[in-house]
Amino acid sequence: DGEVDFKEDAKFAQHLKKDEAVSEFAKTKTLSQQRQYLPIYSVRDDLLQVIRENQVVIVVGETGSGKTTQLTQYLHEDGYTSNGIVGCTQPRRVAAMSVAKRVSEEMETDLGDKVGYAIRFEDVTGPNTVIKYMTDGVLLRETLKDAELEKYRVVVMDEAHERSLNTDVLFGILRKVVAQRRDFKLIVTSATLNAEKFSQFFGSVPIFHIPGRTFPVNTLYSKTPCEDYVEGAVKQAMTIHITSPPGDILIFMTGQDEIEAACYALAERMEQLISSTQKAVAKLLILPIYSQLPADLQAKIFQKAEDGARKCIVATNIAETSLTVDGIFYVIDTGYGKMKVYNPRMGMDALQVFPVSRAAADQRAGRAGRTGPGTCYRLYTESAYLNEMLHSPVPEIQRTNLGNVVLLLKSLKIENLLDFDFMDPPPQENILNSMYQLWVLGALNNVGGLTDLGWKMVEFPLDPPLAKMLLMGAKLHCLDEVLTIVSMLSVPTVFFRPKDREEESDSAREKFFVPESDHLTLLNVYQQWKSNDYRGDWCNDHFLQVKALRKAREVRSQLMDILKQLKITLTSSADWDMVRQAICSAYFHNSAKQKGIGEYVNTRNGIPCHLHPSSALYGLGYTPEYVVYHELLLTTKEYMQCVTAVEPHWLAELGPMFFSVKESDTSLLEHKKKQKEEKTAMEEEMENLRKEQAETEIK
Ligand code: ADP
Ligand code: MG
Repeated sequence: DGEVDFKEDAKFAQHLKKDEAVSEFAKTKTLSQQRQYLPIYSVRDDLLQVIRENQVVIVVGETGSGKTTQLTQYLHEDGYTSNGIVGCTQPRRVAAMSVAKRVSEEMETDLGDKVGYAIRFEDVTGPNTVIKYMTDGVLLRETLKDAELEKYRVVVMDEAHERSLNTDVLFGILRKVVAQRRDFKLIVTSATLNAEKFSQFFGSVPIFHIPGRTFPVNTLYSKTPCEDYVEGAVKQAMTIHITSPPGDILIFMTGQDEIEAACYALAERMEQLISSTQKAVAKLLILPIYSQLPADLQAKIFQKAEDGARKCIVATNIAETSLTVDGIFYVIDTGYGKMKVYNPRMGMDALQVFPVSRAAADQRAGRAGRTGPGTCYRLYTESAYLNEMLHSPVPEIQRTNLGNVVLLLKSLKIENLLDFDFMDPPPQENILNSMYQLWVLGALNNVGGLTDLGWKMVEFPLDPPLAKMLLMGAKLHCLDEVLTIVSMLSVPTVFFRPKDREEESDSAREKFFVPESDHLTLLNVYQQWKSNDYRGDWCNDHFLQVKALRKAREVRSQLMDILKQLKITLTSSADWDMVRQAICSAYFHNSAKQKGIGEYVNTRNGIPCHLHPSSALYGLGYTPEYVVYHELLLTTKEYMQCVTAVEPHWLAELGPMFFSVKESDTSLLEHKKKQKEEKTAMEEEMENLRKEQAETEIK
C-alpha cells in the first residue's frame, strides 16, 4: 500500500544541526549580496582570465554554484558585449525563462530589455538585449540562417552534461564556428565531473573547476521495493512535515499527471490532519513544477514561504540540475523519470517511464545539501541502486528519433551524416531509419538529398510530419484549417478537467466532439472560440484553458508569418474530408486497423494500440476501420493520442510505400511499380551508406 520502511540509521539525526543562519540568508540579503555569496564569485577573476586566454573553456561546478546566472553577467561586465551578444543555451525551456527572469532582476532591467530569452514560438528579446538565454533548439535553428552565428561574441552551452539531442548537434556545429571565427568564444558548462570528454572534443581545451560548497546528505533507502511511489512519496512528505524540523521538501516524480495526483493527495492529507487534531499544524505550501506548467505558477517555487510554513515542491527531473531552489533540506526520490525513446524496430518515439541513472539519483540527493546538511529518502532499495540502475543516462542522440536533426543537417549541406562530428555518434540504424521516414514523407529524394518539399519543411520549427501536414493543407486548399490544427497540437491540452468536476467538464468537452476526429474536434474548439471573439470567460464557461488557446493563437500567427515568407497563400475549405486527408498524408506511418471495440493494431508493425477514453471517437462510440493518430502514449496500455478516422484508399494514395490496395487499374499498377522501384533505389542507397560506414570503421 505504498508503505515505505526505511533502514534505521544512526547518522539520521545530523540534519537537526543545520545552520539556521544559512537558511535565513536569502530572506535577509540583497540580490547583490546573494550574488557575492555564490561559489563562482570567489573564482570570478581567475575564470575571466582563463576565458581571455582561451577560445574554448569547459567550466565544471556543482548545481547551484552560479554557472547559469553569473557567467553571462561576468562576461558582460568584462566587456564582451561591447561588440556582440552573449548567448546561453539551456536544454529546457522552463530553465531558459526562469533564469532569464532572475538575471534581469539581478541586473535591474526589464525582462526582454538588456536580458531576454527565446524559446520555440516565444521571443522575449529586443534591440538592447546583450544577454540572451535560449533553448539549444533555438540556437540550432539560428545556425540555419547564420551559419557563423555572427551576432554572438560568446556562446555558453549550459548543462552540457544533460547531453540533449540539440546540444549534441550544436557541439559539432560550434566546433566549426570556433575554427572559422577567431573572435568567437565558447564556454561549455557541466554539473558533473566527467568533462574530460568535452575537453577532448575541442582539442584538449582547459577545464575550469568551481570549488564546491556542499553539505553532507544522509541517504536512506527503502527496505523493500515500493509498489506505489506516488503514495509512498506523499506519506513520506507528510511524515517529514509532522515530525521533522523546518526545511523545505523536494519530491521527484516523472510527469504532470503524477505530480498533480501527488499535490492533490498532499492537500487532502493536510486537510484531514487539520480537522482531526486539536494542535496547531504548520502550513504546507504545495508547489508543482513541470515543463507545461504556466510560467507564473512556475515562478512560485522560488517564492519564500511565510514564517512557520514549509514548502513542498513536487517536480520532474527539471529540478535535478536545471533549476536550483534554496532551502531544500529533504529530498524524496521515487527513482523514476520520463524519457523519450525511439525504437527503431517499431519506427516510433514513445515517452516512457524509466529508472533514473545513479548519476541522476546522486544529483537528486545533492539538492538536499545546498543550504545545510540534509536527508534524501530513496523510495527504492540500495540493491536496486547498486545493481539495477545505469551508471549514467544514455545521451538523447542515441535513443530518439533523428528526423528533425537529419532534416536540419541536410539543409546545412552536410551530405553524409555518418561523417558528421558527433561526440557520440547515434546508432547508424537510427540515422538510416530517420532518413527512411523523411523519404517516405517526401522530404528526401532517392539519393538522400532534400526535395522541394523537404526544403520547405526545414523552414518550420515543427516535427517533420507536422510540417508536412501544413504543406499538404496548402496543396489541398484547406491551409487555414490545417494551420489551426497544427497550432493546437503544438500547445498543452486546451481541455480543463478539474479533479472534483470531472463529469461536468467531460460533458462540456463532448459538446465540441466531431465524431470522426480528435484533430477536427480541436479545430472546432478553436473556431468556436474565435467566433466568440477569443473571450476568456467563454473559455471558463466551456472548461477550456484560456492560456493554452491564447498560446495556440500566437503559434498560429508565427507559423502564418513563415507561410507568408514562403509565399504560400491561405486557403480555406468547408470540406473537412480534405483536412483529414492532409492529416493522413503526414501521419500514415501512425495508422491503425480495428481489431475489436476500441482496439486497434498498428498497420505496419502489428503493435496493439487503443482509443483513449477522452477521444471523440471513444466518446461517441464511432469506431472506424482505419485511423491515424498523432502519437502513442505508453501508460498502463498503449493509447493513441489524437485520433482521426481515414479511408483505406487514402492510406494507399498518400502513403503508397507502405500500403497496397487491390486494384485493376493498370495505370495505378504502373504507378505502384514505379514506387516500388524507387523504394528499392532508396534501400540500395542506404545499403551503400551502410557499407561506406563499415569501411571507414575498418580504417
Ligand atoms: P548553476 O547554474 O551553477 O546550477 P544557478 O546560476 O542556476 O547555478 O543558481 C545560482 C543561484 O541563483 C541559486 O542559489 C538559485 O537558487 C538562484 N536562482 C536561480 N534562478 C532563480 C530564480 N528564478 N529565482 C530565485 N533564485 C534563483
Ligand atoms: Mg545551471
